[in-house]
Amino acid sequence: MRTIFIAILILSTPLVINSPMVVTAQHTLTFDGDRAYEFLQQQCDFGPRPPGSDNLSRCRAFMVDTLTSNGWTVSLQNFTYKSVACSNVIARYGTGNTTLILGAHYDTRPRADHDPAVANRSLPILGANDGGSGTAILLELSEALNTTIRSQVELVFFDAEDSGYINDWDWIVGSNYYVSQLSAEQIARTRAMVLLDMVGDSNLRLLRETTSTVGLQDLIWNIAKDLGHDDVFIDSAGGGVLDDHRPFLDAGIPAVDIIQHNPFPWYWHTLEDTPDKCSAESLGIVGRVVESFIYNVTQNPTDFPQVPDTLLSLIPWLIPPIALVVVVVWLRKRQ
Ligand SMILES: [Zn+2]
Repeated sequence: MRTIFIAILILSTPLVINSPMVVTAQHTLTFDGDRAYEFLQQQCDFGPRPPGSDNLSRCRAFMVDTLTSNGWTVSLQNFTYKSVACSNVIARYGTGNTTLILGAHYDTRPRADHDPAVANRSLPILGANDGGSGTAILLELSEALNTTIRSQVELVFFDAEDSGYINDWDWIVGSNYYVSQLSAEQIARTRAMVLLDMVGDSNLRLLRETTSTVGLQDLIWNIAKDLGHDDVFIDSAGGGVLDDHRPFLDAGIPAVDIIQHNPFPWYWHTLEDTPDKCSAESLGIVGRVVESFIYNVTQNPTDFPQVPDTLLSLIPWLIPPIALVVVVVWLRKRQ
């Protein structure tokens, strides 16, 4: 019996396989929530920013200016969708090959179709949280990130994410186009894609989005816990969201969507999505977690599972019953 117990014990040790390592060495996190909030406010100052609008063009020029003045090389990835000229904004630092993609959509929904007032439903939303918050965090990261690790990171601002069901538009048009343009070599070297969407609410509650790559999500949620933010990055499952991380997952790139959902904030897709619903504190929490994540990943080449999650997460659960069956068969053979 003793050997049986030992065998089961040994075979059960891979239970730790699903707990990604978090680097304990401390970095000074320099992400500034107040500055991020200013970026959110500045986007909203342009007004609603639906695809193809002058407001979005002016906002894009402001984003390009900000990124360029922080030393990033910016390119516009232009495409046309249903006769509307759209542009993803891509920022890189230096000439090295990037391994991490941080994304956010910067367009806003053309209609407030969830507004309780019927008269408002044909009007465009301001998108302080929905569009503005993720973009604000990426803009602040373009300043806050240590220059030695910037070259590993690509910042991508997607156009045409949020017009789904309006005039026969699809959702996530910009990210679909972006991924369609990636080479096999780029896909192979991209270790992770992290999406920020609706991360600015002053009562921020981030549940785990259930289509995201679990190992990558574990790493981020563990970092948040280490930083004392497990009241914001809540360790329970929310639901699945069709969002800009989807095309990356489909291409085989580990991806996670950091998004307030299940439920979405009450003002989602209404005229009430305004800066006063958001806070510098919330943006600061998410920004510092992401900044810390970038340090972790760039310094630890193998810190989260690279094999398909479903298979990996099953392994710890399968081992004890398999061990039991092996032992029972072995005991029967001995009789
Ligand atoms: Zn939206």
